Amino acid sequence: MAGRCEVLKVENVTAAYNGRVALRNVTFTVLGGERVAVVGPNGAGKSTLFKVIVGLLPLQSGRVEVLGCDPRREPVSVGYVPQREEVDLTFPVTVSDVVMMGRVRHIGWLRRPSRRDREAVRWALEQVGLTELANRPLGELSGGQAQRAFIARALAQEAPLLLLDEPFTGVDAASEEAILQLMDRVRERQVTILLATHDLQMAAKWSDRVLLLNGDLVAYGPPAEILCPDALQRVYGGQLTLWEHEKGTLILGDGHCSGGRR
Ligand code: ADP
Repeated sequence: MAGRCEVLKVENVTAAYNGRVALRNVTFTVLGGERVAVVGPNGAGKSTLFKVIVGLLPLQSGRVEVLGCDPRREPVSVGYVPQREEVDLTFPVTVSDVVMMGRVRHIGWLRRPSRRDREAVRWALEQVGLTELANRPLGELSGGQAQRAFIARALAQEAPLLLLDEPFTGVDAASEEAILQLMDRVRERQVTILLATHDLQMAAKWSDRVLLLNGDLVAYGPPAEILCPDALQRVYGGQLTLWEHEKGTLILGDGHCSGGRR
């Protein structure tokens, strides 16, 4: 798909809620097929960054480009799986309706889904293991299944860029495993993934690059460079305990971060 070109370019982006700045002057670039873990303590701006990229929150200043286009003005597709608490699971739709929503750009407004759209939905449901539940109301799914339905929506979209906001929070072990495998499969298709996570161990193992946020962009680079005691202590402060021992550094978090080992 997108090869090693620049898929996402974020330039001097500042964003605010009611005048209160949540992201300050953030600049970074992500290449095609890269996996980027977005980490930082609660309130660091991880969700805000994703909302800015998909155009749900206006920019105060700066610029976002996806494959050279401004997603606010041009029809470029970004798959977005929001945090669970941002999703209204009582909305009266079936699982397959949710996934079909990912096809809106392909279908066009006021037109009926084509065979290709229905095929894309079937394929996406199969990828996340929800084929059997296609006609169930969304509200009847477990947290992990609902998360998978939103991932299927992003897959059906066939977007070159996927943003996953804390997809493992509150999901069962089977769903976590399914999501991990899925992320491996979409990588084979050169899809670029940004994953916001509290799990520093997972960030270290999974990502090509780590983006450390704390309102500003604190550091961006290979996990071994970014997830070092100095940078983490600076950002997480009292929320982290770092134990040095002969095998490396053991990172112990409080409720905001899982333990991780480098
Ligand atoms: P994270 O995802 O890293 O926990 P967020 O992006 O959710 O951080 O939040 C960044 C900052 O923006 C925090 O100070 C948070 O309180 C604030 N914020 C987030 N969403 C809203 C909102 N809808 N209205 C006002 N302030 C918000």
